[in-house]
Amino acid sequence: VSEQRITEWLTARAGRLPRGFRVGIGDDCAVYAPPPGQELVFTTDMLVEDIHFTRATSTLSEAGLRCLTRGVSDIAAMGATPVFALLSLATPRSMTEAQVLSFLSGVLRGGVPLVGGDLSTAPVITADITVCGATPRGRAGLRSTAKAGDHIYVSGPLGASALGLRTKRGAAWQRHKNPRARTDLALRLRQHATAAMDLSDGLALDLSRLCLASRVGAELQALPIFPGASESDALFGGEDYELLFTTRRPMQRAGLHWIGRMVNDCRSRIWWQGEELPAKGWDHRSGT
Ligand SMILES: [Mg+2]
Repeated sequence: VSEQRITEWLTARAGRLPRGFRVGIGDDCAVYAPPPGQELVFTTDMLVEDIHFTRATSTLSEAGLRCLTRGVSDIAAMGATPVFALLSLATPRSMTEAQVLSFLSGVLRGGVPLVGGDLSTAPVITADITVCGATPRGRAGLRSTAKAGDHIYVSGPLGASALGLRTKRGAAWQRHKNPRARTDLALRLRQHATAAMDLSDGLALDLSRLCLASRVGAELQALPIFPGASESDALFGGEDYELLFTTRRPMQRAGLHWIGRMVNDCRSRIWWQGEELPAKGWDHRSGT
């Protein structure tokens, strides 16, 4: 696999430099001047073959898209808009150049300009993506700022990815294989959310993280479940990449699902149907 040819392929695919960039792929560094009044947010995410995906169940292009989505979903959770990505990619020596380009085309399918990166070899596909997003200064949404009494929402029905992984069929399987981040909700989050995060590891675990960060508890009173999924898929299944957020006042908007209220609780417990919900969910170390 020739790094030079892959760089040329990426440069040709990228077209014009994204707004604000003076230098993109091809030099030692990319050079970017953020617009005045903007604040930049950064996240980095690893995608490792046989941990986060397998080649038996995902195409290389689907794995590439998932790699980007994991980062972009974190950007969306801050109420920010993705601006660019950097990718370090290590692939087995047995992979052909066409296979590497297939993975990269999946990354590009996510629609975020790739402005730099590094290529290397490893026993399994190992991708580390950095995504940068922008928000108006001081407006990034945190997970530590929910208050008791706040209303809790999710941006869509839950459990699709877990259902898809189990059944390998239908719309749920497509959702699992081609996850999309909810960047469409960035502006709404900035206007209304008191706290926000993305659902990468399941509602129970991610909500418990939000509760711990905000030093409150939560009382779940409704659970939107993806058609065909189980309650357990919706509570404990990972990789839905919907957004979880809280608001001071109730919101009536199509596509948003009210699921309960934040409550005073110094132990940050979550209650569902009269019982304490265990803070368990998707464990990346247990494999896919
Ligand atoms: Mg996250």
